[in-house]
Amino acid sequence: MLPVSFNKMRNTATMKKIILAILLICTLTNLSAQPKMVIPFEPQIFKGVNRTSIVYEIHLKDSLNRNIAIEEFNIKSKNTLLLNDLEFISYDFKADTNRFLKNIWIDLDTLPTVLTNTLKCIINGKEFVIEKDITIKDNVPLVIRQPFKEGIWFMAGGPSDSSYHRTFSQKIQSKYDTDLGGFILGYCNQRFAIDWIGLNDKYQFNKNEGNANRDFYGYNKDVVAVADGKVIWTKDSIPDNIPPNYPDSIYAAETALGNCVLLDIGNDIVAFYAHLKPGSIRVVIGDKVKAGDIIGKLGNSGPSTGPHLHFDLRKRIIEPFTNGLNRYYAQSVSYVFNTYELIGTGIDENEDGELEKIEKNKRIVNQKLPESNEIIIISH
Ligand SMILES: [Zn+2]
Repeated sequence: MLPVSFNKMRNTATMKKIILAILLICTLTNLSAQPKMVIPFEPQIFKGVNRTSIVYEIHLKDSLNRNIAIEEFNIKSKNTLLLNDLEFISYDFKADTNRFLKNIWIDLDTLPTVLTNTLKCIINGKEFVIEKDITIKDNVPLVIRQPFKEGIWFMAGGPSDSSYHRTFSQKIQSKYDTDLGGFILGYCNQRFAIDWIGLNDKYQFNKNEGNANRDFYGYNKDVVAVADGKVIWTKDSIPDNIPPNYPDSIYAAETALGNCVLLDIGNDIVAFYAHLKPGSIRVVIGDKVKAGDIIGKLGNSGPSTGPHLHFDLRKRIIEPFTNGLNRYYAQSVSYVFNTYELIGTGIDENEDGELEKIEKNKRIVNQKLPESNEIIIISH
């Protein structure tokens, strides 16, 4: 039997060796660990008047926070190359660095059944090739009615691969999703959002100089429920801004929609109505409403420079939208309107509140979603 002290020493030395070996193995394993390419939601199908598109997002963040250099990215359907483009949006936000996001928007005549996403990247001199197949389902998008009963409306920031809604809302802390096995970023939760701006029959936004909310043709118009549903959140105390000024206020997540109504229309899908007129909201949390019921009036509250309604549909992901704060981790859901009259596409070239360039394309449209800058007429 060895003296206790020597035995102890020998045991300690052995333990140290074991720990070092484990650390070395862990380090080597870590260095060769492949980053995860996460496609958090099933692709949504956009059905516009002139095109059908597949829309989704790819998120990339290395769990070891190593520097990722993206070398190549492409999407194929069988052997047909649909997209070849390595431009990712990269964020360095708060302490959460090294995050990448790609917005995918592909127009297609016929929908493929499977898309193969391939990403090539370099981390610490080592090349990784990540491949991910996703199944495309040609689900009929949700059919809803418009958020107004009548009027002529301009679809500002409406669905498009380059709309400000689609590129705006992703700069928030990423979260690790154990089910998906990767980091997810703030989802693109406004990808099918539309800012509804009211027009008169000359396609003008406002009369006079547009320095008062009441000058705007859409201001104070009744906003209605797009489907039967239950009110889960409202805000009604934020003053309207005076156009064209942007408010000085710094909004917390809770107030960043201005006065708002969140209407749960079933299957965890919530209709978001933002920037409503203060004091105009007719519903309270828990109310059940029918499609077409008036819920409030169009206003100019919150982060807004002129009277409009921000509207979109989102599916809850991580937490319910109990207080309106979890919307960043929400999936933006595709939808279509039952019927509307399309006038054409307008552009406010001089930024004077009047649409100068209007390509007339008048027709009745069924079960489509208007695209960015289209002008539509609603009459119910
Ligand atoms: Zn908006």
